[in-house]
Amino acid sequence: MQYTTHQSPEQKRIALVAHDNMKDTLAKWCLDHRDHLAKHQLYATGTTAKLIANVAQLELTALLSGPMGGDQQIGAMIAEQACDVLFFFWDPFAAMPHDPDIKALLRIAAVWNIAVACNPSTADMLISSPLLNQSYTYQHPDYSSYQANR
Ligand code: PGA
Repeated sequence: MQYTTHQSPEQKRIALVAHDNMKDTLAKWCLDHRDHLAKHQLYATGTTAKLIANVAQLELTALLSGPMGGDQQIGAMIAEQACDVLFFFWDPFAAMPHDPDIKALLRIAAVWNIAVACNPSTADMLISSPLLNQSYTYQHPDYSSYQANR
């Protein structure tokens, strides 16, 4: 695989997802970090978006609910380089009917080398990083050379 350099914008496109048992944790975390989050463009899966908007009074674009395709919508955004950061509080204690979508979302985030936080400790570290508020240069797969070699 060949890689190319990419620059993420200063104002990040941030996706937020939480499974049912983790929704209160993420909503409270969003409230605690409201001022940081408000500087960025926020997206969330349907039910997560509704809760965060209510609890933290943040403006978000609501996608479809996760089990109805919301995880895949975020995956598509990542692949199209329209999402820079993912906060995904998945539930380590419950199996989900949309497990393949969850796996696919985590995989595509790794493919495109975006920043991902899957628990509150990592989320704390990510939200307090100075890189979050500045243009950040990083490597991701070079799709043009991938296509040219096939
Ligand atoms: P939801 O989706 O925010 O619509 O509940 C989250 C998920 O389970 O992927």
